[in-house]
Amino acid sequence: MHSSSSPSSSPSSSPSSSPSSSLSGLTPSLAAELGLADLHRHLDGSLRPSTVAELAAARGVAVPADLAFAPGMGLSAALSRFAFTLSLLRDPASVTRVASELCEDAAAEGVTTLEIRFAPQLHVGAGIEAIIDAALAGLDGRAGLILCGLYGEPPGVLSSLVEAAASRPGVVGIDLAGGPGPTSVFGLTDYAPAFARAADLGLGRTVHAGEGRPAQEIAEAIDLLQAQRIGHGTTLLDSPLVLDKVLKRRVLIEACLTSNLHTGAIAALSAHPLPRWLTHGVAACVCTDNTLLSATDAPSELALAAALPGMTEAFLRQIIACGHRGAFVRRT
Ligand SMILES: [Zn+2]
Repeated sequence: MHSSSSPSSSPSSSPSSSPSSSLSGLTPSLAAELGLADLHRHLDGSLRPSTVAELAAARGVAVPADLAFAPGMGLSAALSRFAFTLSLLRDPASVTRVASELCEDAAAEGVTTLEIRFAPQLHVGAGIEAIIDAALAGLDGRAGLILCGLYGEPPGVLSSLVEAAASRPGVVGIDLAGGPGPTSVFGLTDYAPAFARAADLGLGRTVHAGEGRPAQEIAEAIDLLQAQRIGHGTTLLDSPLVLDKVLKRRVLIEACLTSNLHTGAIAALSAHPLPRWLTHGVAACVCTDNTLLSATDAPSELALAAALPGMTEAFLRQIIACGHRGAFVRRT
């Protein structure tokens, strides 16, 4: 567990030696040497384009021309794209297929530590337990499975996911995904009982937080939901108090660079705070979020990180190591 290991930041890893322009060329050899980790990859956003075409054809529907994300489209527009992929993934067989293909694709990218996440309750062709089992069958031990509750959802849904996870050791963690809506009646505190139960069961906890929203949300995810990892967290440095909390609790930030550009959480890739987090000693890894919708993969995200102003080889090594160390290990 990442919580038992400390971020290996030190004065020697502050920005210095290598200009970032030379680092992108280094990432293939780093990937080969260390293996890549991807802890934040959504099943319903990471289908193969060929599989989307096949599943759509089998259902007699056309693939929308604007399915892919575009820079600055905003989070709610991005989230709306999942309606189509989910329409292709209602039944257990398609979930198993896509979960299996995800593992094959990640392995081909050089990913050796992989976690896949999804919200079983959105796959409406079967009950949540059958859908979870379908995903686990597809993963076949090659990746940990994280179950996602959704912002705004009645807390009982997340509780039912946690209870389903109790008897399924292939489920390694839970998440709260999406984002708070303007009319949401449920806040983070309403999901606290489900997260507490997850902790009791030895499940890891991660939360989509601070994705362009106030940094206080990151603090609440840690304090109210016992989050060990935070998805995105782009606003972390807006608050010294929240930064201090992340450092003290050794919370790992799952950085998703292309996704952040698409949702508008960052204005430009060069503005991504990842190098500054590392300078402060924050544990951070690089993840894909959605390989289909953001048209990316693990090596591409590492290369983007390498090109950020202030990045160093030491930081890149740290990013990869944090990803491997941060994987949820089911405590039974
Ligand atoms: Zn995500």
